[in-house]
Amino acid sequence: MLRLCLLRPRAILFRAYATSPSPHALLFIEHQGGEVESASLSALTAAGQLGGKVTGLVVGGPGEVEGVVEKARKLKGLSKVLHSTSKLYTPPLPETVSPLLQSLLSQGSPYTHVVSSHSATAKSLIPRVAGKLDIQPVSDVTSVQHDASDNSTTYTRLIYAGNAVATVKAPADMPLKFFTVRATAFTAASPQNEGGEAEVEAIDPITPESSPTTHVSTSLAKSDRPDLGVASRVVSGGRALKNAETFKATLDPLADVLGAAVGASRAAVDAGYADNSLQVGQTGKVVAPELYVALGISGAIQHLAGMKDSKLIVAVNKDADAPIFQVADVGLVGDLFEVVPELVEKLKK
Ligand code: FAD
Repeated sequence: MLRLCLLRPRAILFRAYATSPSPHALLFIEHQGGEVESASLSALTAAGQLGGKVTGLVVGGPGEVEGVVEKARKLKGLSKVLHSTSKLYTPPLPETVSPLLQSLLSQGSPYTHVVSSHSATAKSLIPRVAGKLDIQPVSDVTSVQHDASDNSTTYTRLIYAGNAVATVKAPADMPLKFFTVRATAFTAASPQNEGGEAEVEAIDPITPESSPTTHVSTSLAKSDRPDLGVASRVVSGGRALKNAETFKATLDPLADVLGAAVGASRAAVDAGYADNSLQVGQTGKVVAPELYVALGISGAIQHLAGMKDSKLIVAVNKDADAPIFQVADVGLVGDLFEVVPELVEKLKK
């Protein structure tokens, strides 16, 4: 286990924020189709583990934000929801949202931590704002612990494609701490059963002085299957699936009978068998479902980095020495083109 200590921000920053004995996290809440993203619900759980208040921030275009705020204010653990609506935020790009986030953290701000899921947007937004404030963010944390006695926060995060765990401490005299959260490491927060609605406050949008980025269009892969990132069952295929047609014809019946999401190795994605939104691994999605079925996947460390925390791993591979068997709970040495149809028939019964 590695132990690292974050560098302290420059002394000038110490005057910019009041150190607070009690943590107060500002949580960046992402949404899609009027729903709070599941990864943001996991980030809320992580923010709650700091042991203080959590204020949410919802940003979006006209017509999007209201419904999300209604849902967010019922979430367990949120004491307040800030929201800002503008065409500027359709969609909320890091370049356009960062001046707003930065202004919320300006002098007199009550926040001690800035938290987000480790999403594509946050990977740009959080370092952008933290950099402006000369603070080092900590990314993709798998645990968080705040020590109220000295106001330090300690995180764990995986490094070397998940082969080592680094323990990282943000010291007490770092008055504002930024971190992003690995969603699979924290249970998603749920709505309050009754009462306890969070206070809601609208905040004015802030127009960036300049932005080199323009949003042209969003193209979302549509699927009736569960979302890969949060599905409780995943069936993934690798290079062995030969082409896009056999990939679909082999995996879909098994995914249908299991009610599972479909995933793929990078080799399968690079070869055009599957959309890159389905890639599991170090450079794809990190998943931790109840059941992960790996079909014709060798088990390279970059693939394992995205799925080895799955609760039950089932692997089918014709090579008995394939590394996937080292992490599999159930392994079957055989030809997947024979095994999978038989498995589907048995499961249907
Ligand atoms: P292969 O390694 O070619 O394995 C195919 C397997 O199929 C073999 O084990 C073979 O025995 C088996 N097989 C063949 N025919 C059959 C059959 N009929 N029935 C049963 N089994 C059969 N990879 C990822 O997956 N995700 C990532 O995010 C990722 N990120 C990367 C990042 C970097 C920086 C790098 C360098 C690599 C990354 N990779 C990633 C690539 C990774 O190293 C592997 O190349 C890739 O995972 C291999 O995919 P595969 O297992 O499908 O293919």
